[in-house]
Amino acid sequence: MSQPFSIAIHGGAGTIERRLMTPEFEADYRKALAQSVLAGHAVLVQGGSAVDATVAAVKVMEDSPLFNAGKGSVLTHDETVEMDASVMDGNGLNAGAVTLIRHIKNPIQLARDVMQKSPHAMLAGEGAESFAFKECGYSYTEQDYFFTERRYKELRVMKKTGGVALSEARYPDEKKHGTVGAVALDKNGNLAAATSTGGLTNKRWGRVGDTPIIGGGNFARNGNVAVSATGMGELLMRCTVAGDIAGRMQYGNANMEQACRDVIHGDFLSLGGEGGVIAIDASGAVNFELNCPGMYRATVDADGNARVAIFADESLSVVSE
Ligand code: ASP
Repeated sequence: MSQPFSIAIHGGAGTIERRLMTPEFEADYRKALAQSVLAGHAVLVQGGSAVDATVAAVKVMEDSPLFNAGKGSVLTHDETVEMDASVMDGNGLNAGAVTLIRHIKNPIQLARDVMQKSPHAMLAGEGAESFAFKECGYSYTEQDYFFTERRYKELRVMKKTGGVALSEARYPDEKKHGTVGAVALDKNGNLAAATSTGGLTNKRWGRVGDTPIIGGGNFARNGNVAVSATGMGELLMRCTVAGDIAGRMQYGNANMEQACRDVIHGDFLSLGGEGGVIAIDASGAVNFELNCPGMYRATVDADGNARVAIFADESLSVVSE
């Protein structure tokens, strides 16, 4: 009997509205989401691991200027890029995370290397980069590579209005999140989650969000669930969103839909948190939950077609690459 396998991705959530999108921009997002999810799916079809599938899918979005991760990362108050990423292997609760990364093209690959090639679960800043260059042979990527005019404009507007704001937001109270993530179940029954972000526009003082926090924005446990989150990182962390969903299923017998719904519409929402999660359970069922107008999201159906949706009220539909 063939073993089930599946994958789902997100490219961020928040105030994503039809009226603010041009048809071209929307088509670009749908195409990029399809490319990402199909890249991860191809790894699974060939019998690859859930970890490698999620990293492959996230890498495609890190390489795209459309998403707030890797190439398209938002800018800090000092006009630099500081990225966070994490990977969790549900097999043995193994995890790797990196934070405050400035010169690595694909932070998600470094997070996997922290998990697989170091005795640690999280490395930060210069130390993480020195591990990358000296122990893993990464090449140095100039900050210029990450710089996009779109993010610079967003930072300038944000500085005028004051305060920090979520990625892609034009005003501090306009909430958009462009973090990227993937969850997968492989043919051997292993679950994995991977998440990567540039964080918040205009962030300062070495601010770190939920993305590299295991149990905050990312979690996977075999036989249980894999979760990747996007949204206001401070609240995702304070509510330990990914870990809470897993715990409700593991110890409280909640099913995946109920656990995701209760957590995303529970304390997280009442404390002012806006965002969403993607999840896959041990049977390979996929779930998307959000409490805001939109979340860039995709999965692959039984026929191998990428199915993509952006707006909250929209069901997944086939996108040809
Ligand atoms: N969760 C990310 C952070 O707070 C932001 C996002 O989802 O876009 O760093």
